[in-house]
Amino acid sequence: MGGKSKKPYRVFRAGGRSFPVYLDYDEQLQESYPAYPNFADRPEYTEEGRPFATAEQESCPHCKPRVPGSPLPGDCGGCAWFYRDKSPYDPIGICRCDQRRKPKTEEEGK
Ligand code: SF4
Repeated sequence: MGGKSKKPYRVFRAGGRSFPVYLDYDEQLQESYPAYPNFADRPEYTEEGRPFATAEQESCPHCKPRVPGSPLPGDCGGCAWFYRDKSPYDPIGICRCDQRRKPKTEEEGK
């Protein structure tokens, strides 16, 4: 046993899941910041195979502006495919782009 149990900074909900987010400390800036999950490196999916994403995540080649004709967004938060459960400020949401859906395994495809 050992180590203190750390209390999350906040718990965010999206797609039926809960994501506890903890504060990390940046030595250089000398300030704390919320360490959101890194879905780009460690993808996670809803039961329907939709990928979770953070609003600050760098946009992918399938990104789409919210307003047709606008410049392409630089992050998922500005993408028309990004869906938030509760408020327009949720930092964690779901990508609804079919191109990014988790490919079905042979077993699941049956
Ligand atoms: S929300 Fe989906 S489609 Fe849009 S930039 Fe993010 S990953 Fe790409």
